Amino acid sequence: MREVDVAVVGAGVVGLAAAAALSGAGQSVVILEQQPSAARGITSRNSEVVHAGLYYPPGSLKAELCVEGRRALYAWCEERRVGYRKLGKLVVATRESEVEILGELLERGRENGAGDVSWLKAGEVSQLEPAVLSKAALHSPETGIVDAQGLCFSLLAESETHGAIFLPRHEVFSLSRAGPDWLLGVRLEGDENQLLRCGSVVLAAGLAYESLASRAGLDADQHHFRQFPCKGDYFSLIPSAPLRLQRLIYPVPSDGGLGIHATLDLGGAVRFGPDAEYVDALDDWVVSPEKAVGFLSAIRRYLPSIQSDWIRPDYAGLRPRLSAPGEGFRDFLIEEPSPAGCPGLILCVGIESPGLTAALAIGKRVAGLL
Ligand SMILES: Cc1cc2nc3c(=O)[nH]c(=O)nc-3n(C[C@H](O)[C@H](O)[C@H](O)COP(=O)(O)OP(=O)(O)OC[C@H]3O[C@@H](n4cnc5c(N)ncnc54)[C@H](O)[C@@H]3O)c2cc1C
Repeated sequence: MREVDVAVVGAGVVGLAAAAALSGAGQSVVILEQQPSAARGITSRNSEVVHAGLYYPPGSLKAELCVEGRRALYAWCEERRVGYRKLGKLVVATRESEVEILGELLERGRENGAGDVSWLKAGEVSQLEPAVLSKAALHSPETGIVDAQGLCFSLLAESETHGAIFLPRHEVFSLSRAGPDWLLGVRLEGDENQLLRCGSVVLAAGLAYESLASRAGLDADQHHFRQFPCKGDYFSLIPSAPLRLQRLIYPVPSDGGLGIHATLDLGGAVRFGPDAEYVDALDDWVVSPEKAVGFLSAIRRYLPSIQSDWIRPDYAGLRPRLSAPGEGFRDFLIEEPSPAGCPGLILCVGIESPGLTAALAIGKRVAGLL
């Protein structure tokens, strides 16, 4: 007997957004999470930036879902009293050679619907942010920051209001077909393994998707979802440093990344990062103090007054990246691989940035696939 319509594997922002959309559409939903509570994975280690949609190729899922998700996110936060601030951001060119790239970014942002992005001359930048040195900049007023944990708990509350059941400390270790249904092997801490029979499965397991998808019979290379984990370290500005910023400051993107940028959290603290380093380990959260030299030289290009003893190692995050080192852009992969014999299995993989911004739109898309 089918016990539930949909099992969502993973209670990060993506799984929770999917659960909220599915339960809101009348499906019975169980959310299985191996950790003791929600939002402990990638969702707990990021910049908490609500992206406007400047960066991604027009027509890509990243572009579409970022813009749709950002609009939905601000409305959601306003209605549910989730903490957020639309601070705006500057993308600054610090060399003449970068000014042209800034122009391309402006065009791309307009095409994507990133909001009212405007061009600023160096003098206008200094008026807004006296500490910032630039040749020119883009101002993106739609960019902001959000309380990622608060967002997750509001999504969980919404799902539970619609009858969804949240099962923390429940690790899914197997996935197999059982007639028209799916059978999940579930390990409960300190208890016997259990089987859960459901109509559909949403695989929103963040960094752990690859092994579960393989267990469902999907080949990572054939289906192009091989993962290349990419670590991002952060340094924070010490509170006594005499540096004040009103908005987020990003360099012109380079080498496929956004560059080491300055973000603010809801408490007003400044952080720098993340950098990007491909790694093998999925559990290395140490930020090496030796990286300070590289961080400082990147930051000094747009904040020349920064001193060596103003920053200290903070936390690290891990991107579930689909592009191999040196490979170009890869999009989010959100699909139901029915032709591969997996009807009713929705993969949400490669959900790196702007996954937090896009989460509500991803949830809606997942619900539309089922
Ligand atoms: C360094 C960094 C900076 C970022 N900055 C931003 C940003 O500023 N703005 C933005 O929009 N996006 C940003 N992102 C992207 C964003 O954080 C992610 O897209 C988003 O958090 C992914 O959420 P998720 O739910 O897919 O994954 P997760 O949050 O990792 O959730 C997956 C969950 O699945 C659970 N799980 C895994 N395996 C199993 C299993 N077998 N059984 C049960 N449960 C399981 C895990 O415990 C986890 O809780 C950033 C990402 C990184 C790494």
